Amino acid sequence: MTPAVTGPRNSPAPGDGPVVSYESGQREVFCGLTGIIWLHRKIQDAFFLVVGSRTCAHLIQSAAGVMIFAEPRFATAIIEERDLAGLADVNDELDRVVTRLLERRPDIRLLFLVGSCPSEVIKLDLARAATRLSRRVSPEVRILSYSGSGIETTFTQGEDACLASLVPELPDAAADVPPALLVVGALADVVEDQFGRLFRQLGISPVSFLPARRAADLPAIGPKTRFILAQPFLTDTAKALERRGAVRIPAPFPIGVEGTTQWLAAAAAAWNVDAALFDSVTAISRERARRALARYQGELRDKRVFFFPDSQLEVPLARFLSRELAMRLVEVGTPYLNRHLMALELDLLPPGTAVIEGQHVDNQLDRCRAAKPDLVVCGLGLANPLEAEGMTTKWSIELIFTPIQGYEQAADLAELFARPLQRRLKLSA
Ligand code: SF4
Repeated sequence: MTPAVTGPRNSPAPGDGPVVSYESGQREVFCGLTGIIWLHRKIQDAFFLVVGSRTCAHLIQSAAGVMIFAEPRFATAIIEERDLAGLADVNDELDRVVTRLLERRPDIRLLFLVGSCPSEVIKLDLARAATRLSRRVSPEVRILSYSGSGIETTFTQGEDACLASLVPELPDAAADVPPALLVVGALADVVEDQFGRLFRQLGISPVSFLPARRAADLPAIGPKTRFILAQPFLTDTAKALERRGAVRIPAPFPIGVEGTTQWLAAAAAAWNVDAALFDSVTAISRERARRALARYQGELRDKRVFFFPDSQLEVPLARFLSRELAMRLVEVGTPYLNRHLMALELDLLPPGTAVIEGQHVDNQLDRCRAAKPDLVVCGLGLANPLEAEGMTTKWSIELIFTPIQGYEQAADLAELFARPLQRRLKLSA
């Protein structure tokens, strides 16, 4: 099924699939630096050095919370005014900062130089800086670069750019090895362990994850690698893997019981896993997850939900809310829509669902106010003003920080949507 694609915003019309339209204008999203907050926890011996301004430093510091007692694994090399004015050689300064950092922190095995709006504006070539610095410190330390700039990007693209920068570093798989599965996208360790267990029980092996928890554990890759995306926002990473010969397994994303089952089933089909074995391995988890989800079906059924574009998780989340919790989708905004990676998800949305790619925040606010949804999923910047207007909101960034993928997390995910409604009920009681 192919979704209808329209030009500027159209009203959703009943049809075979969702109605996808595009709009542009002012956007309200975090920048790609935000990804550092979950990536630095995932890759345990990596360090993220943002090359940016004081604003970038404040964003990372406040978004990551205060790590007073821990040695943080991110920092900002601040581009000062004299750098911007061309009075100092920024590359020399950067070399000095990196040298000092590596002397002070011998535990760092992988250093990311993360570009920002200011480093892009002054056209600082961080890729070249990473190559130059790598020559001095490899093989002990690997230095890579990617951009987290907020110019025309949204916050989950930071992870995409980071993982795409890792792909050229992956070793070549030997020609005589058996096919291997690569799960792509940062997952909470607990979710990764659950999926690893299920794949083992299904007889799918070897399985590795990108990013790996340790810098030295980069998975080998080649034409026999089959990869499956665990996150929907990894367009560049998927392309980079395909350039290395790896083949993507198309699947919906592992959100909710249905998404998780179809995701696992897609991998199982690629390994010719027997249907009876698949059923026996997944049956107990599926049933337990369905029972746990049922607790939230009463309170979420028929509630109307409106998504502002933010995390790029909007389409799979909307599919989960409508199909497993019977919520009604007023509008599903998403900053970017990769129709190729998202095709199976779009097919699962109710006919006529309005999917809006891009953002014109004023128009969207008007539509949201007119629709008076029961729940608005949006970024932090919009949540407080909308709450003040009496709407009930859910911060979309929380859905990135919280483990939500897999069977065991399906009910927790439903609870994340039920909680703001419960809170609003208590406040109005
Ligand atoms: S990268 Fe750009 S958008 Fe992000 S904090 Fe720095 S200046 Fe702001």
